[in-house]
Amino acid sequence: MKIIRETLSICPECKQQINATVFEQDDTIYLKKTCPEHGEFEDVLANNSKYYLWRRNYHHDSKETVQDPEVTFNNGPYSSYGGKFDLKGCPYDCGICENHKSATCICLIDVTNRCNLKCPICFANANVTGFVVEPTMEELRAIMEHFRGTKPMPPVAIQLSGGEPTVREDLPDIIKMAAKLGFTHRMITTNGLKFTDIDYLKEIIDAGMNATYMQWDSVTDPDVYKQTRGKDLLEKKMKIVENMRELGYRDLALVPTIARGVNDQEVGPILDFAVQNQDVVSCIIYQPISLCGRITREEVRRMRYNASDLFADIDKHTNNIFNGRFYPIPTLSNFVKLVTWFEGQEAFEMTSHEDCGFATIGVVEVDPKDRMKNKLHSIDEYFDVDKFVQSADTVWEFLKKNNLEHKPEIFKKLLGITSTGEKIGSFLDGISHTLLRKGMKYGLYASAIRNLKLTELIANPNKIRNFFNTIQKLGNIIRDPRWDAAANFLRDQALLVSCMHFQDAYNIDTERVSRCLVHYGYYDRELKRVFRVPFCTMNTIHRERVERKNAQYQEQKIPVEIITPQ
Ligand code: SF4
Ligand code: SF4
Repeated sequence: MKIIRETLSICPECKQQINATVFEQDDTIYLKKTCPEHGEFEDVLANNSKYYLWRRNYHHDSKETVQDPEVTFNNGPYSSYGGKFDLKGCPYDCGICENHKSATCICLIDVTNRCNLKCPICFANANVTGFVVEPTMEELRAIMEHFRGTKPMPPVAIQLSGGEPTVREDLPDIIKMAAKLGFTHRMITTNGLKFTDIDYLKEIIDAGMNATYMQWDSVTDPDVYKQTRGKDLLEKKMKIVENMRELGYRDLALVPTIARGVNDQEVGPILDFAVQNQDVVSCIIYQPISLCGRITREEVRRMRYNASDLFADIDKHTNNIFNGRFYPIPTLSNFVKLVTWFEGQEAFEMTSHEDCGFATIGVVEVDPKDRMKNKLHSIDEYFDVDKFVQSADTVWEFLKKNNLEHKPEIFKKLLGITSTGEKIGSFLDGISHTLLRKGMKYGLYASAIRNLKLTELIANPNKIRNFFNTIQKLGNIIRDPRWDAAANFLRDQALLVSCMHFQDAYNIDTERVSRCLVHYGYYDRELKRVFRVPFCTMNTIHRERVERKNAQYQEQKIPVEIITPQ
């Protein structure tokens, strides 16, 4: 047994904070913890220790201090339990606390807990909890303004979730408000049922939805939906894709929740489906199921499906196209900061823990006559990703070390004896900084070109068209680093194949949650302020208490079940 690291977790029974150890044994990575009252718990984090250890190379911590506007307003730490200065330690002090290590990358808001389905695997909708909680427009505005007021990196991506967001009639207004407040990337998490109505789908797209995260548990087996969602939805899902195709909408993200023994056999067919429908599907976000409720240790062992299982299944299905190279989210941390810096745009950081999320880019060779014959390649066939990432890291570290990322004040200081001199100096400082950014940008282009796998391409001329397309789109991201440019990249012959492994009471790890970048925002109706809670602690610890309390203050009482699924 080899200890990898020590951390903190919680007891799945009493939810008290306890010590935990991550260790390697027989090519498997485990998390083990002992509660003084409820005994020992052990869970498998990865079935492939080589891969687990490889991804640790991509660990990146934020060097910025994350400032929460509410903490500033309220003058001090204030956990979501409401106890000012009464802090209990991670993961109980969320709100967000001053020990949190990542800025918000995605602001997530549940716009309702009502739903038009009763999924057996869902623990959060009103049909299960027995109460409705739904923020008002004013509360939603307060939450959005809170996030946009975060310094130094206000998030530009928002995810409107639930329950089922489309049951709210004012959803188009909520999306428009998010756009107005500066969220440039507006995602809707949905079961998609209402998008079978093409007019409604168009209304939501026109309102500004620029990514759709849709539950997508199977493409072949109606019984899977019966187990995961309570009814067969396969035909409806296919209809939604057709509606999107008809509208020319290309930002569908398939979100399969993968449960061992239920739909792990669907991992490959879902990938094939995405490749065949690449004109509509821009990415897949596989989500290994979180284990909820009280289950025995044997059941945890039997049901656990983790990221390493997923990648093994993908590699097996694709005959090793990706060869295990699923990059952890922080891989691109410095690259993203660099490209936003080139254009003086709002920066964002991707410094989640390397055990949280993974992605790779598939390049789709499109058959113009028959999309069923589209072929999938890996970006690694075209491009040395590791070397390119290293170049971006080196450039960013150089800028930081030499304090070059901010506009200098050299000329301003030199000429600033008069106010006119100060203005001229500031102007010259601006020009020199722009020149520096442009120079660095072309340096990164050059590095991208240097890292192309040209010999491989020359040997495979059929890849050349894809190659030019891919490089051109990558260049666009460097030139115009917005979420839009990234979305464009994925729309045209690229497919993001990714995984977000949400935590549960069995595997929660404070090293991970304290670096979470998906932050759940809610308005506390008793304390009259916004809280920002890392998503995995919200689901594992805080959600029930927070929602129950807010439901008591729900002014407009809404019946729990408002829609009967067709
Ligand atoms: S998860 Fe983050 S915000 Fe919550 S207690 Fe831990 S460090 Fe603080
Ligand atoms: S939501 Fe969970 S899995 Fe995702 S980054 Fe946050 S802590 Fe990690």
